[in-house]
Amino acid sequence: MKNLAFATIKELKEKLKNKEITVEELLTFFKDRFEKFDGELGSALAIFDTKSILKETANYEGLLGGIPGILKDNICQKSRITSCASKILENFVSTYDATVTENLKKEGALLIGRANMDEFAMGSSSETSAFKLIKNPWNKECSPGGSSGGPAAAVAAGLIPWALGTDTGGSIRQPAALCGVVGIKPTYGSVSRSGVIALGSSLDQVGVLTRTVYDNALVYSVIAGNDPKDSTSANVEKKDYTKQLTGKLPENLKIGVVENAVNAEGIDKDIHNAVQAAISKLEKLGAKIKKVNLKSLEYATAAYIIINRSEAASNLARFDGVRYGFRAPEYKTLNEMYNKTRDDGFGDEVKLRILIGNYVLAADHVGDFCANAEKVRSWIKKEFQDAFQDVDLLVMPTTGGAAFKIGSLIDNPIEMILQDFFTVSINLAGVPAVSIPCGFTKNNLPIGFQLIGPHFAEEVLFQVGHAYQENTEWHKKHPEGY
Ligand code: GLN
Repeated sequence: MKNLAFATIKELKEKLKNKEITVEELLTFFKDRFEKFDGELGSALAIFDTKSILKETANYEGLLGGIPGILKDNICQKSRITSCASKILENFVSTYDATVTENLKKEGALLIGRANMDEFAMGSSSETSAFKLIKNPWNKECSPGGSSGGPAAAVAAGLIPWALGTDTGGSIRQPAALCGVVGIKPTYGSVSRSGVIALGSSLDQVGVLTRTVYDNALVYSVIAGNDPKDSTSANVEKKDYTKQLTGKLPENLKIGVVENAVNAEGIDKDIHNAVQAAISKLEKLGAKIKKVNLKSLEYATAAYIIINRSEAASNLARFDGVRYGFRAPEYKTLNEMYNKTRDDGFGDEVKLRILIGNYVLAADHVGDFCANAEKVRSWIKKEFQDAFQDVDLLVMPTTGGAAFKIGSLIDNPIEMILQDFFTVSINLAGVPAVSIPCGFTKNNLPIGFQLIGPHFAEEVLFQVGHAYQENTEWHKKHPEGY
């Protein structure tokens, strides 16, 4: 059974169909892998009992029939805790399923647990989880990235074939790159946010982490689509995104290489070389390559910080000890109850963001900070739109460096924020991007590159990503010891 650990969803579906293995055996297999490896890795906050998992789904004919997966712990699963890796929601039990959860259950997926993350998805290293650290399976002294560090580490170590994460500024793509797996941040509005605990409502998207692009397209097919429960949901047609995956690039494909990203100052040499090699590969496969410059990139992080903090401050105002989760046990007045609850319940990073958010939203400053940040956002959107008049897709590195040592950036907020330098502009523009493994550093740490498309170009991203993987072997390498 050992070879099942790194089997793709596609292969597992075949095995189930041919009755080489039963649904119960498959479930037990992956639960045992968490049991064996996750004590050290820390990727899951909970793995559920077998009976309750099996009870939630019956449709083994569905697109994900009988295939186990894990959800980041900010996505509601009915009658289960949803903690956001925060003390304030440690015992909060969801009363309903997020729309993505509902769709997964309808298609027969087995949701086996809750994946660890940065508290309220704030961070790039998974070190802000209130409960435990997550380690990178490629080097356990290193961070898996964040905030979806749990989903990325679990998929990379072969503990599970797929996971859902959320991405507000890079939280799926950066950990995917640092752990050597595929991670998509879909078009804003293509996947419902109903039942997903918000960080930055105008930026958040749910997305998929897998080891292959094909598997990614499969899970995306299940979660994408219009949802009347989410007022920002777009009119996305439901379809099977694996149908167009021929292994060939679409004809006359034009790819724009973002020059000021690929050649950015300070980018790690190994990463630069690996991304260049990926571009050459795409050219060999038939793509026409053009150079593009996105001047707004340099301003994206600053604008993101303002927008992210102000939306976070508004969204997290609801955690006040009255409506959800934890309440401080001792207080004399209502105000004291609010203060103590939020002081004890939230970690430092969350408190810092609430403070900054409220500061920039204050009437005196809102014009300086928020209005300017929105202007930058419009500029970024326009630059992407203009670029896509000329090319079908863009290429950038996912990160400027590979996985870093745990503890090395936590006291260096600027360096930590720069983890998202190449990812945040994509959230601000609302366009889709997928990070795909494209090599290793000299220290054997994974490298990823981003394929970016115009709004609703997921199908093209999957086609190109799949063709790239059919012609490369990077995704077939796995960390040792698993
Ligand atoms: N690392 C970024 C941040 O800390 C992105 C987080 C995310 O995408 N959820 O805000």
